[in-house]
Amino acid sequence: MINFNNVSKHFAGKAAVSDLSLNIAKGEFTVLIGTSGSGKSTTLKMINRLIEHDEGTIQFAGEEIRSFNPQVLRRRMGYAIQSIGLFPHWTVEKNIATVPALLNWPKGKISARIGELLALLNLDERFRHRYPHQLSGGQQQRVGVARALAADPEVLLMDEPFGALDPVTRGALQQEIVRIHQLLGRTIVLVTHDIDEALALADRLVLMDGGQVIQQGTPYEMLTRPKNDFVRDFFGRSELGVRLLALGNAGAAARRGEWIEEEAIPESMTLREALSQFIARQTDRLAVLDAQQKPLGVLHFADLLRQRGN
Ligand code: ADP
Ligand code: MG
Repeated sequence: MINFNNVSKHFAGKAAVSDLSLNIAKGEFTVLIGTSGSGKSTTLKMINRLIEHDEGTIQFAGEEIRSFNPQVLRRRMGYAIQSIGLFPHWTVEKNIATVPALLNWPKGKISARIGELLALLNLDERFRHRYPHQLSGGQQQRVGVARALAADPEVLLMDEPFGALDPVTRGALQQEIVRIHQLLGRTIVLVTHDIDEALALADRLVLMDGGQVIQQGTPYEMLTRPKNDFVRDFFGRSELGVRLLALGNAGAAARRGEWIEEEAIPESMTLREALSQFIARQTDRLAVLDAQQKPLGVLHFADLLRQRGN
């Protein structure tokens, strides 16, 4: 879907990105991670030509991105950023409708689409007529994501979209975006410097440093087969165990055919969260429910130790 071949970008003679090659498959959730200044945002913005690359080629759907009109390209790619960038004097409705209005969608179609998106992002239908300042930070960020999705773009680009939120709101929005990705199957490229966020979201992780890709792979590959000390250190030796637990879920690890009458946990709970539950409840067994709220099995504390992620 998106291919970078030996791409470089310089600002005032200094390389922000150098010799970067990257293939992003259709429908994949790719997360660019790295410390501040590693070239993540520059890489992302080269995809929708907010920044023009100066060496190499970037292709979108098989065509060099320079062959597209930038406006047309941007309408095919939703873009959401940390500062949200909602227009303060526009209602939620008008903000979400930005791209559909540019595309001259009929009024009825736009209104119906806004209804769909509010529902998708768990926003109250009555928020339509509010202004951004009348919403919480988390709600504003949801509107930002709704706006990015409005014209059903083929690609969703997100730059630290949840960076400014408190941990609880952030966790909720992370789950939301995973659900939306599973539901819509859109290609997503998200930038973050937060390791746990990256591990929770990515199908494919791309670790950048100094404008270069150091290693890319699935979260499990990156944690278990780091290419060098930099990668190992980046993902944190000491917390490696808990981070691996975050990749597995209770449903996959539970023992089928067993049951105990205790307050149960959902199958979607990560093993890392399950570990907290074991500790909080002072127990070594947890009942696990499936998505239909039916008994699925029992997770044993010992199962955490043999769990190998996915
Ligand atoms: P990240 O998003 O990983 O924090 P960036 O891609 O924003 O990193 O920046 C990479 C490097 O390029 C940094 O050294 C940054 O200072 C530089 N840079 C980014 N944008 C500009 C710009 N518009 N002008 C000059 N330098 C820039
Ligand atoms: Mg950045």
